[in-house]
Amino acid sequence: MATRRRDNGSDRPGQGKLPSQTGTSGSMATGSEVDAWKTDSQVVDRSGYPMTPVAQTAARRGEFLGAATDELGRYDGSDPLAPIGARSRLNPPVPDTIRLGPLEKIYLIWMVGGSCDGCTVAVTGATHPRVEHLLAGIIPGLPRVELIHTVVSTESGAEWVHNLFMAERGELDAPYVICWEGSIMDESYAGDGYWMGLGEDPETGRQITSLEWMDRLSPGAAAVVAVGTCATWGGIPAAKGNVTNSMGVMEYLGKDYRSSFGVPVVNIPGCSPIGDNVLETASAVLLFLNGLAPLPEFDELGRPAWLFGETVHRHCPRAGYYEEGVFAEAYGDKECLVEIGCWGPVVQCNIAERGIVDGHGGCMQMGGICIGCTMPGFPDKFSPIFGVSPGSLFSSTSNKITGGFIRRMRQVTMQDKNMSTRWESNAPSGWRRERTGPRGATKLFHKAYSKAQHRNESYN
Ligand code: SF4
Repeated sequence: MATRRRDNGSDRPGQGKLPSQTGTSGSMATGSEVDAWKTDSQVVDRSGYPMTPVAQTAARRGEFLGAATDELGRYDGSDPLAPIGARSRLNPPVPDTIRLGPLEKIYLIWMVGGSCDGCTVAVTGATHPRVEHLLAGIIPGLPRVELIHTVVSTESGAEWVHNLFMAERGELDAPYVICWEGSIMDESYAGDGYWMGLGEDPETGRQITSLEWMDRLSPGAAAVVAVGTCATWGGIPAAKGNVTNSMGVMEYLGKDYRSSFGVPVVNIPGCSPIGDNVLETASAVLLFLNGLAPLPEFDELGRPAWLFGETVHRHCPRAGYYEEGVFAEAYGDKECLVEIGCWGPVVQCNIAERGIVDGHGGCMQMGGICIGCTMPGFPDKFSPIFGVSPGSLFSSTSNKITGGFIRRMRQVTMQDKNMSTRWESNAPSGWRRERTGPRGATKLFHKAYSKAQHRNESYN
């Protein structure tokens, strides 16, 4: 018979018992208990931290009882709060109409280091494909994804962590991929504490760190994907000073790391990364894991080469202004932003052509400069952020000379091309403002230009 599972923790110092744990699980708290919850700021959770009033109230009501287990302590997979590793076993496979490879599903374990959760927000905004497409398993050739995520999973606490134990013990019924968000913070710098905790050992109550889980799970992972600049290169937590000795996943695991499928660490930088970049790359890797495609091309830093091979500048909607030597003087101007601090000419990122969500938005489209957030040198080598680099001053000055000349020549040509061959020198427009063709010296210039343009045409 299924019972409700509750682990009251150990007798470690600092661990308090919840009022509702003192009686029958799930029973209503007495009036005095309610008062105690309202007033007792010393109530702590199983890790010894003070609980918020909301958490106290939920615990009092018995809402954190955990998932049902059998008499041997095994999770009941039909309980919606059970670990997904247990629940997923009960799900019948998706009908094989679109299944092409050997993998019907794959577990995606999303773990977090020194992070702001911005990468998670970015990924949930992806549209090509959408997270829902991967979870539903409706993309031909891709295995269905069972998501074990620190934020969006339905199970929490001990039930969530149990998934990681299942992965380590080989109890999951499909391979697993690790997605890591945030910097790797060096726990050897944490003294008696820790930087990144992720669950407890159910036997001893010992805090397990995220980094320990990385050590335990990365050897068996089908792939390790670092999502965002903190996870790839260290990011802002690794900026000058770096008291946590933060670094990226690739640096932590070392250049010899290979997943159980032989894949080095995959890096998808960006602060935050473009959601579509993450899921497109993840999909390409899943296609490979499913044996249906070769591993796509990655560059020497493990970035998907087809996404990070070009600079921002080459695809920027303002690049034409740069070429003609016309520059914004303040935010809000429509011209090239290089003279107010844009690093786009030397930054590898596809934000300009891809946009941030569903092809829309992105830094330059919205009027922001490129601050180099996808690059390993970010942020220190791009500081002071919003300052103007010496290189951009040099290039913008030379462009003002050469681009300025070309812009004026183009204006003359445009003036001529705005006139039909049927008109002499004035457009027969009733719009009051007069439209005229080139006059004087520019007319002579354009006659010569036209002659050169049409020199090979027989009717000329
Ligand atoms: Fe290049 Fe930046 Fe100017 Fe765009 S705004 S054209 S990326 S320098």
